[in-house]
Amino acid sequence: MRYKTVWLRPLLSALAALLLLMLLFQHFGGLTDFFNNFFDKDPDGEAETPVYWLQLVHNSGGEDATSENIELEEAVIGFVAAEMPAAYDEQALAAQAVAARSYAWQKYQAEGEVCDNSAHCLAYLDEAARRERFGSAFNEYETKLRAAAENTAGLILVQDGQPVPAYFHACCGGQTESAAACWGGTSYYPAAACYWDNLAGGSAINSSFWPKEQLAERLQVTPAQLALLYIAGTTPSGRVKEVRCASQSWSGNDFRQLLGLSSNRFSWLESKEGFWFTTLGSGHGVGLCQQGAGGLAAQGYDWPQILAVYYAGCDVCNLNELYEPTPRPDNAE
Ligand SMILES: [Zn+2]
Ligand SMILES: [Zn+2]
Repeated sequence: MRYKTVWLRPLLSALAALLLLMLLFQHFGGLTDFFNNFFDKDPDGEAETPVYWLQLVHNSGGEDATSENIELEEAVIGFVAAEMPAAYDEQALAAQAVAARSYAWQKYQAEGEVCDNSAHCLAYLDEAARRERFGSAFNEYETKLRAAAENTAGLILVQDGQPVPAYFHACCGGQTESAAACWGGTSYYPAAACYWDNLAGGSAINSSFWPKEQLAERLQVTPAQLALLYIAGTTPSGRVKEVRCASQSWSGNDFRQLLGLSSNRFSWLESKEGFWFTTLGSGHGVGLCQQGAGGLAAQGYDWPQILAVYYAGCDVCNLNELYEPTPRPDNAE
């Protein structure tokens, strides 16, 4: 019996050591990675931070349209600066940064480029434009904007492992809208009660007056036919889905744009001279309500809580869990 244990012990020790080495290599992702990790540096000798690039088109559709390759995180600062008042609380700016990064990245993946036309993609301010807009408050606002991007670096909203088109708007007026109810297609996130707007009494009520002759001309009906103008359907959140008049019909969004109304949550009163249109909130109402986010942040909510209000059913995920870092484009500055 004794001769067996003599060779069994070293053999078991060798097997255990081999198993430990295999586990170590698997954990560190291979021999090269193992040594890189062991010496805490990458082959170039620099700390490796994944960098993602966007192709950003300026003045899209214009004659002097130009395009640049820009680091995603740098673009996010410019998007947030253009899309949300920089005076807002840092947590609201951080929520906006995640929404803007998600929206831009999703659009970039789908279309290969993002433009700085807010009606199509996102408004954008480069550093020179930010200096001009913020004036003497530039340093203060720039610090806040950079912190908003850096504190959420790489984070996007996802659903089923896919980036979500994270829409946002100026003010919902108390109730956001689902994307499906607004434009059809996938909903991604449901309509939500906007606590802040409700606390603030459903802010942002606007009115505009249209004399009958002008309204009839704009709608391409006769003044007499205006008596037939009616709302043919509303969405669950109370926004206008369809308006009809005589043989004409418009979606709520088209009608809103035709008359320059601030939102598709509108109603009207007819007088002898014309029509008074009243709107609640401004923008399409889908996704993050900027005024609501600003109000929630002022009350102490942090950015994950704010995003949870407006993008229920979505998760926050780092880009590097879904995408390989994009190589630096040749024509990048
Ligand atoms: Zn665009
Ligand atoms: Zn709101």
